[in-house]
Amino acid sequence: MGRTDHDRGSGDGRVFRFAPSPNGLLHLGHALSALLNRDIARAEGGRLLLRLEDIDRERCREAFATAIVDDLRWLDVAWTGTPRRQSEHFAAYRSALDALAARRLVFPCFCTRGAVLAASAAKAAATGVPRPTDPDGAPLYVGTCRQLSSAERARRIAEGRPAALRLDMAAALEAVGAEGRRSLRWRECGDGAGERDVPAEPAAWGDAMLARRDVPTSYHVSVVVDDALQGVTDVVRGRDLFHATGLHRLLQTLLGFPAPRYHHHRLVLDAGGHKLSKSRGAPSLRDLRREGLSPADIRRLVGLGG
Ligand code: GLU
Repeated sequence: MGRTDHDRGSGDGRVFRFAPSPNGLLHLGHALSALLNRDIARAEGGRLLLRLEDIDRERCREAFATAIVDDLRWLDVAWTGTPRRQSEHFAAYRSALDALAARRLVFPCFCTRGAVLAASAAKAAATGVPRPTDPDGAPLYVGTCRQLSSAERARRIAEGRPAALRLDMAAALEAVGAEGRRSLRWRECGDGAGERDVPAEPAAWGDAMLARRDVPTSYHVSVVVDDALQGVTDVVRGRDLFHATGLHRLLQTLLGFPAPRYHHHRLVLDAGGHKLSKSRGAPSLRDLRREGLSPADIRRLVGLGG
């Protein structure tokens, strides 16, 4: 699954991407990310790509994809080539998952969401230890389906029971080896602290879900596959994805993908100090535009000056 520098296309220029999900309208948080991507790509003489992360067909809408393109044009954020739509590339994600399966680094998980939560609560009650959570605050998977025999797995699959795929974290860390684990790091150029190496801590995610029961991939798999296939050298995205990068570095290493440079930027917060979100009523760029704000006003509102 590796790629060579030769595959990277014309020249050795830096490649950036802005990767929104078309499950709602863009707000100021997206504007900051898009504008930073554009500004840094421009300063580095790099190219900016647009990727629509639309693997969740239930939540994504064509109207939102159209609105994203329109809002970015209004903001004067231009990209090279045709936007990549993840929903058109399930085969690429499948082949990454197959490569991990061939090395026995993933296992099918038949647990429903409710069963995962109940098992985690039962373990906490039995051990008296508060249930551990992943960096996003979700309870860590206790490993119910990791223990299943291969005969039992085959039986459930033959019955047609829907299965997610989870990474066997212990096996994956074993597969990269002691030396590999020491070099699981990334170059961080995010706000403030200057450029530095950050040690990846993928174990914090436990047996992370790599394909959902209802979607044959996951954010984590699709993003590392696309960043590699599109030759992305610089990932500029919000700080809320900082810890996910630890898991992404592990997947990149297992799949033979190069490590991009990462820039995790500050988030735009609402008056209550929360990350902007549609569900908390953040105004969309559309709303602000309708109220008469200009792209320069948006720049100022996200703290990028005039
Ligand atoms: N699709 C993600 C989002 O809208 C961004 C993922 C990324 O930049 O890696 O939050």
